[in-house]
Amino acid sequence: MLSNHHCHSEFCDGKASAARMAAEAHALGFSILGFSSHAPLPFLTEWTMDEERLGDYADTVRALAREYSPSMEILLGLEIDYIEGLCGPADRRFASMKLDYSIGSVHHLRPEALGDQGVGDEPLATVDGPQEGFDALIARGYGGDGLAMAEDYYRTLAACVRAGGFDILGHFDLVRKNNPGQSRFSERDARYADAAMAAVDAIAGSGIIVEINTGGMARGKTSSPYPEAWILKEMKARNIEVCVNSDAHDPGHLLAYRDAGLKAAADAGYRELCILTAQGRRRVAL
Ligand SMILES: [Zn+2]
Ligand SMILES: [Zn+2]
Repeated sequence: MLSNHHCHSEFCDGKASAARMAAEAHALGFSILGFSSHAPLPFLTEWTMDEERLGDYADTVRALAREYSPSMEILLGLEIDYIEGLCGPADRRFASMKLDYSIGSVHHLRPEALGDQGVGDEPLATVDGPQEGFDALIARGYGGDGLAMAEDYYRTLAACVRAGGFDILGHFDLVRKNNPGQSRFSERDARYADAAMAAVDAIAGSGIIVEINTGGMARGKTSSPYPEAWILKEMKARNIEVCVNSDAHDPGHLLAYRDAGLKAAADAGYRELCILTAQGRRRVAL
């Protein structure tokens, strides 16, 4: 059964209209497509939706859902940022939209050393931007200690999970995206592993679904899906449920590296995925 609950469009930083994304998904034989535009933040960015477009976004996705029913189910979601001390999926800011689901994601960090200064072109420091901004974040926010940055990322992710208010946790180890060849920090260091495991333990028992996200692979940034294999095994050992999403920003990426995502799940010992539907959660065999 083909599904993808992490899908962007021109309402945020996607490269195609929602209608084109839906048409391509339908042509590919999708059963379920979830739209998860970047929710508006309390400040302006290049990649989030403007607050005033929320109504249009919901109306557009709902109209597409009617158009493609019953052959393909289309769900209305948002990818909502958790920014420590500022905003998060639990804020209920979007409650009036009656979303089908939301993805909780951490893109931003707020190290004390930076205060509320941004890095690069971003008004607030992000781990998801270009390499230069990521390097500036490590240098100026953490005194050049990449592991300290990774520890802060996972501490923030655990706080996001504990705050809750969302269904799917986005790209668990996004902090790997700008760490080519482990050049900024060692992902084999005990400090890294301990920090990641604290976040895994926060997820256990929460009911939150973790996405196996192939978006980093599609952008040529990582050679494996998020989360990495050893982390996924630890999640399986804690009965944390998973789905496979591609974080598509254009129609050509709707199925990007899906096989790698499914293989990662199987290699970690998973036999089924947990898929969100309009009727609730459905477990489907791998
Ligand atoms: Zn994201
Ligand atoms: Zn995304």
